[in-house]
Amino acid sequence: MTEFELIKRYFDRPAKNALLGVGDDCALVRPDAGLELAVTSDMLVEGRHFAAGADARALGHKALAVNLSDLAAIGAAPRWALLALALPAVDEAWLEAFSAGLFALAARYGVDLVGGDTTRSAVRTISITAIGEVPAGVALYRAAARPGDDLWVSGELGGAALALQHPEITAAAKRLHEPEPRVELGERLRGLAHAAIDISDGLAGDLGHILGRSRVGAVVEYARIPRNAFFDKFPRLEKDCVLSGGDDYELVFTAPQERRGAIEALSRELDLPLARIGAIQAGEPKLVVLDAQGKPMAYRPGFDHFAGG
Ligand code: ADP
Ligand code: MG
Repeated sequence: MTEFELIKRYFDRPAKNALLGVGDDCALVRPDAGLELAVTSDMLVEGRHFAAGADARALGHKALAVNLSDLAAIGAAPRWALLALALPAVDEAWLEAFSAGLFALAARYGVDLVGGDTTRSAVRTISITAIGEVPAGVALYRAAARPGDDLWVSGELGGAALALQHPEITAAAKRLHEPEPRVELGERLRGLAHAAIDISDGLAGDLGHILGRSRVGAVVEYARIPRNAFFDKFPRLEKDCVLSGGDDYELVFTAPQERRGAIEALSRELDLPLARIGAIQAGEPKLVVLDAQGKPMAYRPGFDHFAGG
């Protein structure tokens, strides 16, 4: 199979929201008037982000999901994606499953795959660029948290990190390999939230980015953080997974206290737990996590993609 046959067979689908999709030198898209384009890119490398034998369908899902999660975190609605793919060989079963996983998620949110690049390389590498739209002036910046804001988190934390140590827990493994991007939540937080970020590298580390860019501090009550039920059986792993475990792709956001009722109503409407876990404070960009007795807890601050060489 040639490179062009591969693209045609597995990645060329009619684009509903684009003037021109796969097959030309560029895609052509027309954003609606009054909207800003949100653009993001995320890469998955074999051996680093996924194992050689990883399920291809789940990988197709995850490669797009992590990008949709970034768009959600800034309050943008996903519209278009580009896929840069480096593969050691043309493995048709892998390509079939990978593209099925990718297009299934794309279809749920009306995202068009409008282009990309395909090449051979020793290490399987998947890089997706996603483009979304957000009305002018309402995107959720990391720098927008203010003292007095409540601190909220969606869903439950820690499951994906637990799966790294206990892959036999099926529900935890699903959190790790097939994360659910909080697309609707991100869009609905426009005008409600101040700052937001998605949790890819752990609550403490990612919340730290909001604090650093907003130049504020935060206090979180550990007991208020929703965590996956599987920790009942692994109590010793809980704290590190919940505070510092990555790959959950939940949203952390800040909002003024007068929006509590609106956020609780949104939680019921979306059927998605939204928990108020703490507050933003004036001062040093530092996160304090309090235990049930109100004493500060030690935690691992974050994840560095260059750690370990
Ligand atoms: P060019 O040489 O102009 O960069 P390519 O030959 O790399 O174009 O790609 C041909 C067409 O297929 C382009 O429209 C490109 O965007 C698209 N394409 C290439 N690889 C992929 C892919 N993995 N997924 C989706 N579209 C792709
Ligand atoms: Mg090219």
